Amino acid sequence: MRPYTGRVKRVALLGATGSIGRQAIEIIEGHPELELCAAASGTSSLDDVDAPLKQTGGDLTELLERAEPDVVLNAVVGFAGIHATLWAVENDVPLALANKESLVAGGELVGGRGRIIPVDSEHSALFQCLEGQAGVASLVLTGSGGPFRGRTRDELAAVTPEQALAHPTWRMGPKITIDSATLANKGLELIEAHFLFGIPYERIEVVLQPTSIVHSLVRFRDGAVLAHLGYPDMRVPISFALTYPERAETPAAPLDLADLTLQFEAPDVETFPMLQLARQAGELGGTAPCVLNAANEAAVAAFLAGRLPFLGIADVVADALERADTARARDLDDLVEADRRARELAEEAFAVA
Ligand code: NAD
Ligand code: MG
Repeated sequence: MRPYTGRVKRVALLGATGSIGRQAIEIIEGHPELELCAAASGTSSLDDVDAPLKQTGGDLTELLERAEPDVVLNAVVGFAGIHATLWAVENDVPLALANKESLVAGGELVGGRGRIIPVDSEHSALFQCLEGQAGVASLVLTGSGGPFRGRTRDELAAVTPEQALAHPTWRMGPKITIDSATLANKGLELIEAHFLFGIPYERIEVVLQPTSIVHSLVRFRDGAVLAHLGYPDMRVPISFALTYPERAETPAAPLDLADLTLQFEAPDVETFPMLQLARQAGELGGTAPCVLNAANEAAVAAFLAGRLPFLGIADVVADALERADTARARDLDDLVEADRRARELAEEAFAVA
């Protein structure tokens, strides 16, 4: 039994069987003031998860209503997480957000509302560098560049899912790992940063830092730059989001500074067009980010199933963005329809790809 401290925070963990979900359970188990009040997965079994309320598939908002959590950790993958994200911001329940797709697709319907504490490592870093600060000049998102950094388009034509799933610095679920290989992940993160921090796109830069030690940086008006460093370990941002505004110990290894050299380089936007497509979709606004996200989800699934070549992912997304209606979404129904239509457009594009 854990000693009762009188300040237990009850966590509803959605996506409990995934890469983030498993690490979150480790953090919750190691912290006496955190307690799992509900756990959900899409299709995988929750038999080995110890929580009073459990649900596989179905309506996540019903589970959240019953669980009455103090914080929701949304670690579902993809647009499927949108309902839970909207539930948390509408009910003003703190949202530890790993499910970036729901913020990208939800746009203004999610960003700037409720209390969102990012779990994505770059945004957790930015959140921490921005706390209590004024005079922000720009945000600098870092990325590893993925397994294909330095390759040419010719060299990418025949890469397999297995090669694309071999990420150099992070161990993550398959969808985000493919997104890291195409740089779609950095594109989604650009839009995520815009909606989290309300900074215009022209003041959000992307730079590669191949060892993933620098998790992101903020430039200030006076020329100062604040950065957040650490080994790549998602348990740190998960713990930060769950214990915020406090900071708990984690099992993360301390950073060995004597053994550290940092290199940065610009991303190759010609070889990896997803980053620029995301920037364009973000600047276009309306449901363009939702369309980008949905077409990308469909294209990644098709690539993993062997139905689409690696370079086809960006082609399918560009085609969907060109053909879709990207008018503003008034509500969840509009988002669901934009998402559905973009997947339909992507399916049509696979047929000719
Ligand atoms: P994963 O594939 O390992 O796990 C996904 C989880 O979501 C599983 O538990 C699955 O059962 C659940 N799920 C899927 N569809 C569902 C549905 N309809 N209803 C309920 N649950 C559903 O994915 P992951 O790598 O843990 O990533 C989860 C999210 O966190 C993604 O949005 C990803 O972009 C983000 N993220 C992950 C990492 C990482 O290190 N893994 C880092 C940053 C951000
Ligand atoms: Mg990230």
